[in-house]
Amino acid sequence: MVNFWQEKTLSEMSPEEWESLCDGCARCCLIKLEDIDDGQVHYTSVVCQYLDNERCQCSDYSNRNTLVPTCIHLTADSIPTWLPTTCAYRLVDEGKNLQWWHPLVSGSPDSVHEADISVRGKVIPETFVHPEELEEKIIRWVEL
Ligand code: SF4
Ligand code: SF4
Repeated sequence: MVNFWQEKTLSEMSPEEWESLCDGCARCCLIKLEDIDDGQVHYTSVVCQYLDNERCQCSDYSNRNTLVPTCIHLTADSIPTWLPTTCAYRLVDEGKNLQWWHPLVSGSPDSVHEADISVRGKVIPETFVHPEELEEKIIRWVEL
């Protein structure tokens, strides 16, 4: 059986298929710092204040772009290179398959947490961190 993410491009997916492609890792909700010298993006262990850390989901998904103007709005034509290498949108865009822990493959929304891919339980809300301390929070567990 060929799965939709293997036979369709991102732009060919239905809205339902597109939404289901998100693995729920919330890595894209981590606060990132860009090195002004080389443009490299560094992830921190600090997360957007709107992430419900227990559910590992945005607490106000439908209003996210109003609440946080910098919140990513992915489209088939704009898959940023700073997304983690594990991101399903990036994988499909690069012609790669999804990993075993992706809920569409495993059949369970918990596998992304069990595989230690999601940010659940590992992050600090941005409201608890002074902006000047962000650099100290740079992490290595999200690969670019
Ligand atoms: S990094 Fe990609 S797969 Fe993970 S939550 Fe963000 S959009 Fe979804
Ligand atoms: S507004 Fe929601 S989706 Fe956007 S970064 Fe914050 S938690 Fe993530």
